[in-house]
Amino acid sequence: MDKNKNSQIGFPTSPQPEIVEEITHYTHSKHPLIKVDSPELFTCAGCKEYGAGKRFSCQQCAFQLHDFCTSSPPVLENHPLHGQHQLVFNSKPKQANAGISWPKCDVCDKSTKGFTFRCRACSFQMHPCCAKLSTEMNFPVHPHILKLLPPVNTAASGTDSGILCSKCKRRRSGRIYRCNVCGYHLHAVCAKDLINGLHANGISPPEKPTFGKTTRIASQMVIKFVGGFVDGVGNGVGEYLVDSITGGRRGRRSRMENN
Ligand SMILES: [Zn+2]
Ligand SMILES: [Zn+2]
Ligand SMILES: [Zn+2]
Ligand SMILES: [Zn+2]
Ligand SMILES: [Zn+2]
Ligand SMILES: [Zn+2]
Repeated sequence: MDKNKNSQIGFPTSPQPEIVEEITHYTHSKHPLIKVDSPELFTCAGCKEYGAGKRFSCQQCAFQLHDFCTSSPPVLENHPLHGQHQLVFNSKPKQANAGISWPKCDVCDKSTKGFTFRCRACSFQMHPCCAKLSTEMNFPVHPHILKLLPPVNTAASGTDSGILCSKCKRRRSGRIYRCNVCGYHLHAVCAKDLINGLHANGISPPEKPTFGKTTRIASQMVIKFVGGFVDGVGNGVGEYLVDSITGGRRGRRSRMENN
């Protein structure tokens, strides 16, 4: 480390940040937000989706917003993913069934729990991050241009489209991009990681389990593991562990997220 030359003749100086971009966002008007670029994962307080890298961060509390969420326009006209109607920005989610189930994004098929762009003419809605996607994209994970396939009604059949994503190697619901040159496929939900900074910072999004074979096996493993653990320790601790495991979906889910 090269010692500060100025320290010989004056006071030491700390490295100067280039430009401090400070904003006040109406969803967090009590504190200013500062634009920072740091590699760790965060959950955007606006859209409730993951992010990494560039964000606007409160220096006084844990509030953080995607940079694109701070600058969401009030209205989107002629958006490539829903050109037929105007989309209006909403900072509050549409809450279906009093919070038991959240309405899904029409692009990535994940729940919308915060900021959304919503169509007033039909039921279409999407996350701000998904609104950054277009029908044709040049993603850094693939040398050719990828084109968005038409939506598949997966809800009706209860199954995923059957197309294997070349990035996550899984079948999932939501819109899919395809390369017409070589047949590469990419989920819109995986494409989001190229927008929200996760891919650039080497982070895989923490997953909620999908219901099916994998979930069942994993739950059995967790219960087995806890069972074995219970044998080895005193009864009191064992009961607590079993309670927290069987106490509800929430307990199981949080365990699954750790794999
Ligand atoms: Zn956001
Ligand atoms: Zn704050
Ligand atoms: Zn989405
Ligand atoms: Zn519409
Ligand atoms: Zn994928
Ligand atoms: Zn290709």
